[in-house]
Formats: sequence, structure tokens, C-alpha cells
Amino acid sequence: MNRENKKKSFEKGYYKNHPCNESFTCRVCGRLVVPEGSGTGHRNHCPYCLASRHLDVEPGDRAAECGGVMEPVAVWVRKNGEWALIHRCRICGALSSNCIAADDNPLKLMSLAVKPVACPPFPLERLEELARLTGCETP
Ligand SMILES: [Zn+2]
Ligand SMILES: [Zn+2]
Repeated sequence: MNRENKKKSFEKGYYKNHPCNESFTCRVCGRLVVPEGSGTGHRNHCPYCLASRHLDVEPGDRAAECGGVMEPVAVWVRKNGEWALIHRCRICGALSSNCIAADDNPLKLMSLAVKPVACPPFPLERLEELARLTGCETP
């Protein structure tokens, strides 16, 4: 057993304590993603199509063996007003939440955010009816 050689490769948890400064080619849209411009030390998704890859179990640990493409399925707002993305793995269905980066495509983010509003699971007229029932009708 050669322990010294093993130490040279990235140990488990390496990315937790080190910002990842690698460039990568997005598996979904094929664009080259560079670390510059993300505004965070940890870019884990493509700023153009917002897709990610299933590499982490805990954020940044690179412990997942799945490697599937993670599609952005929603955005949510954290307590501090910061937006975060919910990614879902195409292969195993795992969900994860990731901070958005400064240069993420704002149009993509907005279209994700309004998706449920644009496709409500009930007819919009229902809202008028509800407003009347609860006395919120505008004069
Ligand atoms: Zn992409
Ligand atoms: Zn997966």
C-alpha cells in the first residue's frame, strides 16, 4: 500500500474546504463554463442553461457516484432574500438546492420562477370567484 500516492489525489471533502476553480464544458448546452464571474468560489451549475451534475451528496463533497445531469426545476428565496436553485437528477431523481451565481442567465431564472404562475393547476377565473367570496373584490 502506498499511502503517499493516495494523498496526492483529491481526498473526500476536498471541495468543501477549497473553492473549485476548474472550467468545465456543460453536458447539456455544450458551452465552456469558467469559474470567473460567478461571484462565489463555488460554481456548480452552468450559467447559460442552469444545468448541473450529480456529483455531490453534501454540497461540495463530490461523493456522489451517480454523475447524472441535474436539471433546474425551481427557484426559491432564502431567509436573507438570496435566490437558490432546486436541481433534480435526471437519473436518480435526487434533489439539491444551490445558490445562484452572479452571472446566471436572468431570463432562465425568471422563467423558472414564473412557471408555476404561468401554468396554474386551476382556471384563473377561480381566483376572481375566490376574491368575491372572501370580500377582496376591487371596487
Ligand atoms: Zn449549460
Ligand atoms: Zn443522480
